Amino acid sequence: MRTEVGIVGGGFTGLCCAYYLSRKNYHVVLFEKEAGPGGLARPVPFLDTEIDRYYHFICRFDSCLLAFVNELELGGAVKWRRTDMDYHVKGRLYPFTDPQDLLGFKPLSLWNRFRFGVSMLPFFLLSDWRSLDTIPNDAWLIRWGGQKVYDIIWKPLMVKKYHHRHREIPAAWVWGRTRRRSRSRHGFPRREVLGYIEGGTKTIIDRITRLVRSHDGELLDNQPVVDIRKLEDGFEIRTTNEVRRVDRLISTIPAPLTADLAPSLPEDYRRRLSELEYLAVICPIIAVDGQIARNYWTNIYETEIPYLGVIEFSRLNPDPGFQGKSVAYMPFYIWPEDDLWSASDETVLSIAIKHLEQMFPWFRSGQIRESLVHRDRYSQPLIQTGHLHRMLPFETPWEGMYILDSSMIYPEDRGLNNCIRLAGKLVSSHF
Ligand SMILES: Cc1cc2nc3c(=O)[nH]c(=O)nc-3n(C[C@H](O)[C@H](O)[C@H](O)COP(=O)(O)OP(=O)(O)OC[C@H]3O[C@@H](n4cnc5c(N)ncnc54)[C@H](O)[C@@H]3O)c2cc1C
Repeated sequence: MRTEVGIVGGGFTGLCCAYYLSRKNYHVVLFEKEAGPGGLARPVPFLDTEIDRYYHFICRFDSCLLAFVNELELGGAVKWRRTDMDYHVKGRLYPFTDPQDLLGFKPLSLWNRFRFGVSMLPFFLLSDWRSLDTIPNDAWLIRWGGQKVYDIIWKPLMVKKYHHRHREIPAAWVWGRTRRRSRSRHGFPRREVLGYIEGGTKTIIDRITRLVRSHDGELLDNQPVVDIRKLEDGFEIRTTNEVRRVDRLISTIPAPLTADLAPSLPEDYRRRLSELEYLAVICPIIAVDGQIARNYWTNIYETEIPYLGVIEFSRLNPDPGFQGKSVAYMPFYIWPEDDLWSASDETVLSIAIKHLEQMFPWFRSGQIRESLVHRDRYSQPLIQTGHLHRMLPFETPWEGMYILDSSMIYPEDRGLNNCIRLAGKLVSSHF
């Protein structure tokens, strides 16, 4: 009899666990609450194709992801393109990709442009990030670049994501996140090159599901888990449709949700899971005849524009299914207490469009041919200073049950590369 492993959550992490376990001949039963797998990377119909619910780009040093797609014989589906960035400051767009762009970046004085350039050095030169775990990001960034550079460049980025909680983020997180993206810039003059998967993340998801099913793995959609209990010889997983017994268990859903599903886990451990805070995300996607932004990525200085940036994804991935249209995502990261969280999709879309018209004078809402709005309550964990010593381990107080949560990705930000890394590490060390 093969050992049966239950996996709660069919996002990218759950799928990677299913893949690695199947490869080791475990019998996998994966429970996903939605109608299809993929979680934040789930494909949805859009124009003549399917598109990831949230954009996904690949960086040059996403080594786990690149090795994984090769292992799945999908290496040929990874495409690379030069990408450029703009920064929208006080009503103007400034090119913001490379050091030459910095020379012309008027919102900073010449001296501060120089200081910003110097302040990027630790992202390349510093390799031991552990000392940054207890330092607040603003203190560290101001130490390197000064107050003005912080106020113009870093603070708007942090505030747009974390709002009033932005000072709680450790310098290590900013180091990890910025380093990943900066290392995708290379050559002289330095140019950014990012990758995407032809067909979107769906290409990988489809391959994983096929391989897992070929090992008799059960990938169960529309099966929200509502209760998990420890038995003497395994676990009982109750969904809205059935009750299953499994030998071992991996929960890949956000940690506070795991705490809700397993009320008989020890109280102090459940409290640790529940204390993890997550930002929500709402993200309109639009397809337009003509141009939306000027470049692939536009960062935004103005706090009155509520989204993090404009990501014109079709400039990275010109999917033939887009029918030549420009396709952009505008992610709003918000706390669930924010009124926007309960706003209708139409309201969110109209806010996004109003600001697009202000930012890009050539953009007209009448050019929009298709739009979607997605939202997820758990999109980004709040990583606070001192996180290193609070980070959850794979093991839970119940022998045979493990968890994987995005907060266990540190100092890098959550992403597909690290879903693969963590899933691979858990399966190779505990199964
Ligand atoms: C706006 C945005 C942009 C991003 N950009 C990038 C990028 O460019 N590159 C990159 O690598 N990453 C990016 N990411 C991050 C990436 O999408 C995530 O890191 C990854 O998809 C997380 O996968 P996961 O399986 O850990 O979590 P999730 O995708 O959240 O999966 C959890 C799954 O559990 C299911 N579930 C929840 N509760 C239950 C239950 N009770 N029973 C059964 N199932 C349940 C959910 O439906 C979901 O499918 C981005 C994310 C966002 C939001």
